[in-house]
Formats: sequence, structure tokens, C-alpha cells
Amino acid sequence: MELYDVLIIGGGPIGLACALEAKKNNLKYIVLEKGTIANSLYNYPLYMTFFSTADRLEIDDIPFITTKPKPGRQDALEYYQGIARARDINIKTYERVINVQKSTFFQVETSKQIYFAKNIIVATGFYDLPNMMDIPGEDLPKVKHYYTEPYPYAFQDVVVIGSSNSAVDAALEIYRKGGNVTMIIRHTEISKSVKYWVKPDIENRIKEGTIKAFFEAELLEVKPHSVIFKNNKGKTQEIENDFVLAMTGYLPDFEFLKNIGINLQGDCQNPHYNPENMETNVDGIYLAGVVCGGRDTHLWFIENSRIHAKQIIKDIISKN
Ligand SMILES: Cc1cc2nc3c(=O)[nH]c(=O)nc-3n(C[C@H](O)[C@H](O)[C@H](O)COP(=O)(O)OP(=O)(O)OC[C@H]3O[C@@H](n4cnc5c(N)ncnc54)[C@H](O)[C@@H]3O)c2cc1C
Repeated sequence: MELYDVLIIGGGPIGLACALEAKKNNLKYIVLEKGTIANSLYNYPLYMTFFSTADRLEIDDIPFITTKPKPGRQDALEYYQGIARARDINIKTYERVINVQKSTFFQVETSKQIYFAKNIIVATGFYDLPNMMDIPGEDLPKVKHYYTEPYPYAFQDVVVIGSSNSAVDAALEIYRKGGNVTMIIRHTEISKSVKYWVKPDIENRIKEGTIKAFFEAELLEVKPHSVIFKNNKGKTQEIENDFVLAMTGYLPDFEFLKNIGINLQGDCQNPHYNPENMETNVDGIYLAGVVCGGRDTHLWFIENSRIHAKQIIKDIISKN
């Protein structure tokens, strides 16, 4: 039986940071990733720009060199995948972890085989499950929960739901490729967290009317050629529509966390962990990265969660 000191679930930026830290401390480790390396970033909008500067996305102090201060998706993929190659990270891709059970050691069942480990780090992120609107018509093929690029939407009537960075980026890009964009926004204004250099752009497009926006509004139903929503006067309105981009956020895989024994607390289903060492209520299972926030996915990002790697590995070594 091959026994790992630490098995890391998820090969995103923070899973990789944990792997580098484990390697540096001579722990026997493995990373299991259900997609490609940095799979969430691979699925980001093609032309996105990070709000962080490159230095704040660095892991293990490895320089992230870019020609512009803020990297884009491709820069980040080059960086994180490049690290996995250069540092010869022990990672298996396209292998999903299905369950983790504890006996003498952790027994980890994947889509391919069983592994044994003394400690587990869950670094599974939150980008795989869209936060559904749960309205009629959400399952129509014209409704998208992921936005990749503007070109499919040229000359189309597109409704964008939400006012966060993802919604605003999609609205502006599609408008500039000739899409007729209407935003339906629950709040009274564009989100304050929208990138500071983008916010004036969207606000001015809304002011001049080239992008239409309904604030304090809620989408009620999607039909094949229209959408129905409630406006800020509480009245229902129907407009013609070809595509709906539901930029309503994403959620961690709560079922998976529950199945492996992690307690989830409160409305935000915050996973239970000790912030000192990131250990959960299950001894030997640690949480790392943005999965820690539960439904509150704005709490953690790469910038402030890369530190988890050091906290966790220090704790594992201290208990050995
Ligand atoms: C559009 C966008 C822009 C962002 N911009 C910034 C920014 O500028 N700065 C910043 O600091 N943060 C930013 N963030 C947040 C941060 O980049 C991401 O959330 C980041 O990917 C978090 O890293 P992570 O390793 O915790 O999770 P992820 O990168 O999501 O990695 C989790 C990995 O786990 C894998 N996985 C999940 N379940 C399983 C399983 N059961 N078995 C095996 N593998 C599994 C996934 O495939 C994935 O690769 C942004 C997020 C988004 C969506």
C-alpha cells in the first residue's frame, strides 16, 4: 500500500501552493485534479483581466513576470502550469475525487483508483457549480451560466443578470461586438467591487443608454424568444431576447464537503475550520483556498488564501 503524508484535492493555484510547500518540506504528497491544471482559470472568460497585480498571485515566491501589471487568463495559465512542469509537481489530472473515508488512514476514492493518505487538503475552489436562479426556463439552451467570449452574441438581444465583475465584463464586451445588451440587476447600483478602471465605463454606457439596465429588478421567467422580469415598481415586463447570461455566481460543492464529514454552518454554509491551522472538524482534513468561504465567495481569493499552504504544512509537520 502506497501511503502519502498528504493528498491534495484540487490542482488550482492554492492546491499547487500546498504541493510546493509539501515538497519543500520533504513530505510525500500527491495532487488529484478532475480537469487540467488550474482548471477554473482555464474556464474563465478568454479575455478577462485579473483585478490583482501579478505579484499578488505568485505562489512560493516564484516571480510571475508579465508585460502588463495585471495579468490575463492566458498569463495565469502559463504561470501556474509552468510551475507544475518546472517544479515537477506530482499531480494527476482528469481524476476526480469521489469520496474520502477515514479508518487508520484516509482512503480516497477517485474516478480511477483508491489512494491512502495520512492527511487531506481540500482545495476544490467554487467555480464548478453555478448559483442557479431556480426560475422557469433556466434549463433552455439559450441560458448560459458561463461566459467565454463576445463573438457568439453579435447582433443578438442579450440579457445579462447581475452587476458583479463577470456580469459587467460580459455586458461591455458584448455591447462592443454589436450585441443589444440589457442588464437585470437586483441591487440599486453596479456592484462596488467592480474593477475600478471598468466601473466608470459601464456606468457611462448605462447613463447614455447604449447598455440598458433595470435596477432593483428580478428575472422571473425565460421563454424561447423573450424574458419576463419584475421591475423596480413591482410590475412584470416582457422583452424580446435571444440569450440570457446568468452571471449569478458559483458555489463550492457542499455535498462533497458534507459527505467527507465537514460541518457546514449558517446561511452561508461556511465550512468549519480552525483559522490558525485550517484544519476542519475532521482531524487530518484541511481546507485551503477559496472553498473556505462557503456561499460567501467574495471572502477569499488567491491573494489572501495562498498563505493557507504554509499554515497547513506547518501544522502537518508539527504533528508528525
Ligand atoms: C473571473 C474571476 C476573476 C478572478 N480574479 C481574481 C484576482 O484578480 N485575484 C485573486 O486573488 N483572485 C481572483 N479570483 C478568485 C480566484 O482566482 C479563484 O477563485 C482561484 O481560482 C482560487 O484558487 P483555488 O485554488 O482556491 O480554487 P480553484 O482555482 O477553483 O481550484 C480548484 C480546483 O479543484 C478542482 N476540483 C474540484 N473538485 C474536485 C474533485 N472532487 N476532485 C478533483 N479535483 C477537483 C477543480 O477542477 C479546480 O481546478 C477570480 C475569480 C474569478 C471567477
